[in-house]
Order: sequence, then structure tokens, then C-alpha cells
Amino acid sequence: MAVPGFVALTGPPAVGKTTLAAKLAAVHGAQVFRLREFAHDVRHRIDVDPALFATEDPLGWLPDRTVRVLLDSALGGRGRNGVTVLENLPGTIIQLRTISEIGRRLGLPVVVIELTASDAIVIGRSLARRVCPACEPDLDADPHRPARAAAADSSTCATCGNPLRRRRCDGTARYELKLRRFRSRIPGIRREAAPSTCLTRPSTPPPARTTACDEWWPRSAAPRSSRACPPTSHPP
Ligand SMILES: [Zn+2]
Repeated sequence: MAVPGFVALTGPPAVGKTTLAAKLAAVHGAQVFRLREFAHDVRHRIDVDPALFATEDPLGWLPDRTVRVLLDSALGGRGRNGVTVLENLPGTIIQLRTISEIGRRLGLPVVVIELTASDAIVIGRSLARRVCPACEPDLDADPHRPARAAAADSSTCATCGNPLRRRRCDGTARYELKLRRFRSRIPGIRREAAPSTCLTRPSTPPPARTTACDEWWPRSAAPRSSRACPPTSHPP
């Protein structure tokens, strides 16, 4: 059993975060927290003030103060029960501070993993990846998780046989905006996270391997909130 704690998994859109999170769940028994899905559930509760979800962001991202409320609600009461992967977090320095505060409060270590790849690679991956609207729970008809294509017909889902499709924002100006935003914000997040950040360059394709995880996440040693991360690679 891995040491309890939070693994914040960030990286440019289409770098393979969802795939790595799924592998961490399979290999380490980690729970995967997706802010987007949690926010969707909370938003549809009858006792929630709709103003909490007001945003003027062109990508529809929630303000940091809203993210704080959601993370406090989702993670703040969590016991020391295993590894929780925070997929696609932090998106901002403030979000990282919120996660660190929650970790401190709970006495749990926080490690940030950044998956790195060039624009050419992630744009190529965004054009190639497909999702399955039938297999994924419907979130505003905008499925996100990567789906595996059938061997006989790459346009259909290997699991259910229904047609696969692109993610709604892939191959659009929205994707470019997400990528530019990530590139502009990650230097500040790196500075804030150091020295508890692992930079991991995924092999492409297939996406990120999990073998390195055994090296940076202790299975039995005492948790440390910041630790040197082998093997470290720095983006260009
Ligand atoms: Zn399917």
C-alpha cells in the first residue's frame, strides 16, 4: 500500500494526464479526483448558490476562490486513506497553494508531477485522441476520457462498439487557448512547487509510462512533503 497523500498531476492539454491517472489508480490503488466532474455534481445540487459557478473566463474555468471551496469540500474531510491523484491540477499558483494548505491541514504530503511534451507532440495527440460518448458518464455531452478503438475498426469503441469522436475542444481555437494558457502559467507553478515537483516526459506514443512512479512515490517509507525526484528532465 502506498503512503497516503496527494499527487497533483499537471501538464499541457493532451499530454496524457488522464491515462497516467488511470494507471496510478490501477497500479497504486489511487483514487482519482477530477475537479471538472466534482464541480458538475455540485453545480446540480439544489442547495448550491449558482453564483458560486459564475465565470467570465473564455474557457469557462472557475475562479480560484470557487476552486478553493470545491477542493475544501472534496478533499478537506478526507482521511489518511491512500493516494489521491488530483488530475489536471493545479491550474494556477493559487490552486497549488490551496492544495498545499489542505495537505498541511491533513498532515498529508503533496507531490506535483508535471508531464512535459512539445507543442508539436501534444497538438498531434489532441488531433489523434478519441472519446466515447456512450461509455463515459454524460457531462454536458462533452466526454473527456480517452477511449480505446476497436482493432477491426478504429472509428468505433473497443468496449461498446459505438462510434468514437473527438473531444469537443480538440482541433479548435479553444485547444490552442488552453495550451497557451498552460504554457504561460506553468513557470509560476513550477517556482511555487519546487522542490516537490517531478517533471516527466511521456513517451509518445503510447502515453506516459508508470514505471517511474515507483521511483518517486514511496511504498513504505515515511512521507516527505518535498523530495528529490529521479529522473528529472527539464523542458526546453
Ligand atoms: Zn464506448
